[in-house]
This record gives sequence, C-alpha cells and structure tokens, in this order.
Amino acid sequence: MDMSVFDLFKIGIGPSSSHTVGPMVAARRFLLECGPLDEAVGVEAHLYGSLALTGVGHATDKAVILGLMGETPQGVDPVAVPDKLDEAELEGALKLLGTKMVPFSARTGLVWHKTSTLPEHPNGMRFVLRLADGSIIERIYYSVGGGFITAAGESQAHAAPAGTPVPFPFDTMVQLLEQGKRHGLSIPHMLRANECARMTNQQLDAGLDKIWAVMRECIGHGLVTEGQLPGGLNVRRRAAGLWKQAQQSQQQPRNELPHDAVQQVSLYAMAVNEENAAGGRVVTAPTNGAAGIIPAVLRYYAEDCRPSDPVRGVRDFLLTSAAIGMLCKKNASISGAEIGCQGEVGVACAMAAAGLVAALGGSNEQIENAAEIGIEHHLGMTCDPIGGLVQIPCIERNGMGAIKAITAASLALKGDGTHFVSLDNVIETMRQTGADMQVKYKETSLGGLAVHVVTVNHAAC
Ligand code: SF4
Repeated sequence: MDMSVFDLFKIGIGPSSSHTVGPMVAARRFLLECGPLDEAVGVEAHLYGSLALTGVGHATDKAVILGLMGETPQGVDPVAVPDKLDEAELEGALKLLGTKMVPFSARTGLVWHKTSTLPEHPNGMRFVLRLADGSIIERIYYSVGGGFITAAGESQAHAAPAGTPVPFPFDTMVQLLEQGKRHGLSIPHMLRANECARMTNQQLDAGLDKIWAVMRECIGHGLVTEGQLPGGLNVRRRAAGLWKQAQQSQQQPRNELPHDAVQQVSLYAMAVNEENAAGGRVVTAPTNGAAGIIPAVLRYYAEDCRPSDPVRGVRDFLLTSAAIGMLCKKNASISGAEIGCQGEVGVACAMAAAGLVAALGGSNEQIENAAEIGIEHHLGMTCDPIGGLVQIPCIERNGMGAIKAITAASLALKGDGTHFVSLDNVIETMRQTGADMQVKYKETSLGGLAVHVVTVNHAAC
C-alpha cells in the first residue's frame, strides 16, 4: 500500500478536502510544474463537474486563487485569508507563487463548467498559463478525495508519495489479518513498522502527536466560538451554546440525563465541523466533510475511557484508523463526489471505531469487526449538501457518525471477533453501491436535501 498515515491525516483548512484542499494543492502544483514564470502574462482555472456545481459553497474559488499565489493548506493562515483575497481582488492581479504578478479577475479567470465533466473523475480541473509569446501551458488535474490529487493519466495509486518497501504490505484486510496471525502482531504494531520504513520512530510519534494536538485545538476552538457560519444559509453555530449548557448541567447532577454523556461526543464532532465550515484549521480525517468523527471519538477515549497510557493509546488509535482509511481509499473511494457520503462519514466512522478498539486493547479481529459495522450502517448514504455548503447535513452527520463509531466499537469489544460480513466485503459493497448511485446524489447539490429544501422555500414564497 503506497500510503502513509500522514496521507490520511493532513493538517489543512476548511471547508472541504476535495473541493478546497485538493484544488489549492493542484493550482500550486500546476505552476510549479510550469517552470520559471518570468514570461507568464495570465492564468485561468477551469472547474468541472462537482467542483463547478458546489465549488462556490466549498470555497473552491478561494482555494484555487490561494494555490496560484503559492499557499499550501497546511501553511496558509486561515485568519489572513480574507485580507489576501481582498487585496488580490482590489489590485485585479495575482502574484503567481509569490513571484510573478499577472492581471487576474475571479470573474474571468475562474471558469465553471457545470454541465460537463472531465473523463477520469467528477472533480476535474484544467489550468491554463498564458505566456508573453502567445503560447499556453495547459494541464488537467483531479481532486480524488481527502485532499489527494492526480494529474491526468496518473493513477490514483500515485496520489501518495512513491512507495518505499514496507515490512507488512497489504491491499486487503484479509492480508493484514493473515500477517498479524503469522507474526503474532497487532494492527497498530504492523502499521508502525510500515511507517518506520519511511521515517524514524521519533518522527512518527512527533507527527502523530501533532495531528492529535491540532484535532484537540480544533475541538476546543469550536466549543467556544459562537455566531453564524459563512455562505449565506445563515446557519448558527450550535456547539458552543450546547457545550455551555452541558457544563452547567454537570454542576447540578440531578439535572443530568443519561443521554447527556452521549451528547458531549456529538458536540465535539460538531465543534470540529463548524470550524471546518468556517474555513478554520482542521485535520482531514479522512476528509474535511467528515473531519469531526475521529477527533470526537479520540477525545472520548482520552477523557472518558480512563486509559492507563493515553499517549500510546492515541498513537495506536491513529495508526489503526489509518489502516482502515487506506483500505477504503484503495478498494473503493473516500470521495463524496465519487461514491456519496458513505465514503466520507461512513469511512470516518469505520476508522474511528477501529481506532477505539485498538486503543482499548482489542484483537485484530475485533478491530475488523468494528470497522465493518461502522461502514455497514452508512451504506448508501448520499451526499446532498444544501447550497453546496459543508454545513447541512454535514455538521450533524458527524455527530451521529461519532456515536455510531462508539457503538460499533462497543459491539465489537463485547464479541470475540467472529462476525458475518468481512471488512473487505463491505468495502466492495460500498464501491458498487457508489457506482450505482445516481450522479445527482454525489456532491452536486442537484438531489436529496439540497433540492428538497430549495423547493420548500420556493413554495413558501
Ligand atoms: S454530505 Fe457528507 S460527503 Fe457530502 S459534503 Fe457533507 S460530509 Fe461531505
């Protein structure tokens, strides 16, 4: 498997990994691949399919402009973004990769092709660089989910850095389980060994700890930030208010209801997804739309499960989650535009469930069982964000996904690991279900809730 835990968990910016992070990376990569920019006199970005249909709601326009300026998802300061974009708009010009100024207007420089798609994926982009002698350089890229991009003709296997041989290669869960049995090793142990073929143990731990620190900060920020989310739907942030209520009710134990503990986990997830919707700093896990589930379940683990060694537990959690994400990405997809929300929230739920079982010391078979339950109960879930914004149903959907992940982990830990449906089978089912799903339910805002709510509002007018 040509993927690392740090391909699945990437520090980035909201609101979407496929529509914000991927296009930003692609725009920058295009200019880097063009070579010296001294002769550049203009640039255009053409967005196709799902990127064109929901791109404005997902901030694809802003992401492309930032990428052309040379910004990266992990390096860009979310607070400085509005000023940078306003400055470019006022000047009517962009400094390509921070070096070469060319005239640019978002009205003409960004072209939205809403009725056509490029051949290899629903999220296609074509960039054009115009040179002083009248010639052009043109390239096509695809944003294939989770912030991964490919150039035209490049296989998705190359979306991640070229592989170093690893001690425990696997393309299916059966292979991973078989190696675990043969060597008497746990899944997080094997994943650690694979990662250490690319980096030192210390680098791996530092990277995992950093991912968890950014996730924690994101939850913390979301739990104290109130107001309205951008985009025009006037969606109010709810996590902070509900969190305040939860704290007050804890001080008066008699007011507490049995479901209050469950609600806290949903609030952690919603806090992250409100941050994501506001364009804040988030970790793709495995995508931005589904970024709340893994941090929420991790915080539940660290604070409520009374772990004896939480540092080790969190690292094992992330390594195990990554193994499940890799299998889903390789054998199905983690792109809502390709297979619907089952591939985003469903996969995140499976990753979190498996991670929790590993952190709590479950067996490899119990890990597989938890992941399989996590996906099975999201099969067929469509992607139909209202107004093309990653807000409704996405924010609450993460809250629900986190609770399902804990339930899946709990069911798996109560059993002995034997189960009816294998993870490989459920991933293949997800792939086939996604292929059969009508295009309008795959991140186009042309079906489902997106259309129903618009229809109801129009009827009311
Ligand atoms: S509905 Fe699901 S897949 Fe679609 S944008 Fe929202 S979280 Fe992502």
